[in-house]
Amino acid sequence: MQCPVCSAEAQNRTPATLPGIVLACGSCGEYRIAGAAYEHLAKLSSDRRALALDHAKRASKHGLPMIDLAAVSPL
Ligand SMILES: [Zn+2]
Repeated sequence: MQCPVCSAEAQNRTPATLPGIVLACGSCGEYRIAGAAYEHLAKLSSDRRALALDHAKRASKHGLPMIDLAAVSPL
C-alpha cells in the first residue's frame, strides 16, 4: 500500500490484534496510525504529514511511533 506520510510504497504490517494500522515504509520507518487519525492525516499537506510522524516519533519512547489525533492536530 502507499505510505500515507510520504506516498512511497510501504508494507502493511498490521497485526489482527491491534486497532489502527501498522506500516513499514522505506523512508519513514515503522509506525502506527490510530484509526481515527488516518483520514485526518490524508487531508494534511505533505509537510504537515511529515511533522505528524516526527511528533509521533518524539512522543514514543518505547515501541512504535503512533500517529494519533494529537499528532495530526495543529501543533
Ligand atoms: Zn513513508
